Amino acid sequence: MIGAGMAGILSGIRLAEAGLDDYTIYEKSDEVGGTWRENTYPGIGCDVPSHIYSYSFELNPNWSQLYSPGKEILGYFRGVAEKYGVLDSIRFEEEIVRCEFREGRWRIETSKGREDEADFVIAATGVLHHPNIPDLPGLESFEGEWVHSARWRPDLAIEGKRVGVVGTGSSAVQIVGAATSSVEKMVLFQRTAQWIAPQLNPLYTDQEKEAFHTDRESFGAMREGMAFDYFEQFSKGLLDSNSEAMQNLQALCKTNLEESVRDPELRERLRPDYQAACKRLVVSGSFYEAIQKPNAELVTEAIERIEPGGIRTAEGSFHELDVLVLATGFRVDRFVRPIEVVGRGGVNLNDSWRERPSAYLSISVPDMPNFFMLNGPNGPVGNFSLIEIAEKQFDYILQLIELKKSGRCNELSVTHEALEAFEVERTEAAQSTIWNSGCRSWYLDDRGVPASWPWTFDRFREEMSAPKLEAYDLRD
Ligand code: NAP
Repeated sequence: MIGAGMAGILSGIRLAEAGLDDYTIYEKSDEVGGTWRENTYPGIGCDVPSHIYSYSFELNPNWSQLYSPGKEILGYFRGVAEKYGVLDSIRFEEEIVRCEFREGRWRIETSKGREDEADFVIAATGVLHHPNIPDLPGLESFEGEWVHSARWRPDLAIEGKRVGVVGTGSSAVQIVGAATSSVEKMVLFQRTAQWIAPQLNPLYTDQEKEAFHTDRESFGAMREGMAFDYFEQFSKGLLDSNSEAMQNLQALCKTNLEESVRDPELRERLRPDYQAACKRLVVSGSFYEAIQKPNAELVTEAIERIEPGGIRTAEGSFHELDVLVLATGFRVDRFVRPIEVVGRGGVNLNDSWRERPSAYLSISVPDMPNFFMLNGPNGPVGNFSLIEIAEKQFDYILQLIELKKSGRCNELSVTHEALEAFEVERTEAAQSTIWNSGCRSWYLDDRGVPASWPWTFDRFREEMSAPKLEAYDLRD
């Protein structure tokens, strides 16, 4: 497996349970946790309630609050990896640089020069992984400190400093919400305004946590209710931009803006001109309050260039800064890359994905036998819990692995025809989704087509329940 984040840890646990314990997880860093290891910026948290952002087989009655902070989530993943004995199978600080399929097996090369062999490779490399560093002229001349939100340094002190944040996605909103009160000045550079849904984040009392431990039935019912509201209802709404769920969400965000922001001029500058949830919905209980503080400033003029002392805008104003935070998102079309993956007949994944990444059900790519992805291209990244998705995808992959184990075949990957038919149907269905309702976002691919799962959770569950073998090229 590649990567010891949420999906890599899951794979180790599930493989061992299936009696396939001869596995290795290659992890380029020295710690598990993936995105939760990497993202340590002020205010980092998950906007999915913790009780439904947990493995189904390892619920956690001890979550501190409805939406737990990043550090606690990282601790959870580390604890699960430890409890299930996954840590012993992880090669830390060993980055895979190349995988080549030769004579029926994958030959794996790591950054340390190690060469290993495997029957299967499962890429659990994540989607939001490679920072997008925009080409801002003059960035290298900046004399203060600059950092990408996903590469926050533990020694980066921002207290009492003049801080600039570029971006208005979930990361920027969390940073502004958490850090404004401790900095001298917070300047937010907004290219596009964001709809923000309100967030109440109560702490769980000791009594509540005790009840989660002892009354498993009510605990389970509570989780199911949360999952239903959160994923089933919300995700159904996403598929139709005119749905009642999306209209209600729009009204909720509009009321949040209008009731939270007092200055009418600031309010209008914060008002988006597209439909809520067209971009990934931002959820925050602290952003509007923070951006109205006397030491906060919202800049909506375009950035012209970075100068040694700060940022110059297109209209000529200059903002002096000590620290610059690029909360500018990720290169979401990278996936497994830059690892070089060479499949059957010398087919290179980079060539297969020259136009854009694609995979059947986001799991399998033609000519890449016995190579599968968790949370691969065009999967349900914006719709459901990524943990539940990975669990279902892994159960599906396990069924593919069993085909080899039972002697039905030695090599399997999706056929070109099946992938093509899937992509035609997927791009067609994506047209009516909320992501296609008129905004720029990381959900859209280079053609402007939403790179996501455009169907219901029921369809996802159904597809994941059993592979349709006619879609696969099975070989001895
Ligand atoms: P993002 O949503 O992609 O936002 C990037 C921001 O940077 C956008 O506001 C974008 O502006 C701006 N930007 C990019 N290039 C720019 C440039 N050259 N000049 C000015 N502005 C520029 O990134 P993110 O906030 O890191 O979030 C990414 C995803 O991570 C989220 O959507 C979410 O799925 C996940 N996330 C989740 C949580 C959570 O609580 N679960 C927290 C953080 C992140 P435009 O809008 O104009 O393009």
